Amino acid sequence: MSDVQRREFMAAAAGIAALAAGTLATPKRAEAGDPSFMNNVPDPVAAGKELPTFKFELEKTTGKVIGNSFGKEATVEQLPISKGIAGVSMKLEPGAMRELHWHATAAEWAFVLEGRVRTTVISPTGDAETNDFNPGDVWYFPRGHGHMLECLGNEPCHFILIFDNGYFSEFGTFSITDWLGHVPKALLAKNFGLPESAFDGFPKEEVYFARGPIPPEQPAKPLQGLKTTPLTHKYQLLERPPHKVFKGGREWRVDSSSFPISKTVTGVVLDLEPGALRELHWHPTADEWQYVISGDVSVTMFGSHGRYRTETMTRGDVGYIPQGYGHSIENVGTTPSRMLIGFNTGVYETIDLSQWIAGNPADVLAKNFSKPASLFEKFPHGDVFISSKEG
Ligand code: MN
Ligand code: MN
Repeated sequence: MSDVQRREFMAAAAGIAALAAGTLATPKRAEAGDPSFMNNVPDPVAAGKELPTFKFELEKTTGKVIGNSFGKEATVEQLPISKGIAGVSMKLEPGAMRELHWHATAAEWAFVLEGRVRTTVISPTGDAETNDFNPGDVWYFPRGHGHMLECLGNEPCHFILIFDNGYFSEFGTFSITDWLGHVPKALLAKNFGLPESAFDGFPKEEVYFARGPIPPEQPAKPLQGLKTTPLTHKYQLLERPPHKVFKGGREWRVDSSSFPISKTVTGVVLDLEPGALRELHWHPTADEWQYVISGDVSVTMFGSHGRYRTETMTRGDVGYIPQGYGHSIENVGTTPSRMLIGFNTGVYETIDLSQWIAGNPADVLAKNFSKPASLFEKFPHGDVFISSKEG
């Protein structure tokens, strides 16, 4: 190799090295989960001798309060392990509206707990959809699609929002008043073909929760008139029969196979009778975010290296299981429990421990555990999913 060739070779090698370093350093999100985890780089939060807490008492926090409306959030700030999914509990008083905004870094999935909500959402195609939601209904807005949420009727509404990015903060959204309040009036005037005076008295700072009259029962037509949307943003989850029914409980589930627009989130409502157990399992392709709607549950998590942790959770608490970590949920209270569970994938997958064992011959299991093969003939010969108190 000549000196010139050597210099060129070294420069090219340095370039490749820089490119590789840049690729690793750039927090490029994988389809689901934390990118460092996907690259098998130990996540410092979950790499210690002990597993960190995976519980956060969301409803005990104050959050952002305006009038009788609030937003409370659980992000990596509040729950450091929750890198893949953030969540928000939001309550709107009658006449209140979460103003027009978008999320630069997350899609929004929601489940209505109480009251009625109206939403509008715009798509890059220019299609807009307005929907009204009741308790048990779900919405999904793809990343970056502008939307608003408005309380309907005389009663407050309460809903849980799930975002497919744990670093996303509900208090760092791109709100329309924040933007218009900082654009020079001359530019706004040119943009909309109106005199500058049209923008006199517009809010100078982000409004966040706008307050005004209770909206009409029938939504008025958008300024552009009605256009049909190819994919609806609304899914009535609890209007349908549960996906799975067991003696000890039941599960409703919605992913992109039944709700096509929901490409990055799967939602589950899980009911467990007292003493019932959602068995040991893991999710190969997604993180799991949990919110306790009612009851008392014990959630266990297995993180390899002999690490095992249990958290007891009650109404209003949030839990988080990283992708691939083993876990179980048990109703340890005296009343039925209900949990809302979100996954950062549009295609739900689970592997349950009973099913895994049932997928192996008895002699393999006998060797693995140094026990007689006859013992394993007594194990379930299929998936248990939920086991009841009586067994
Ligand atoms: Mn939003
Ligand atoms: Mn799970």
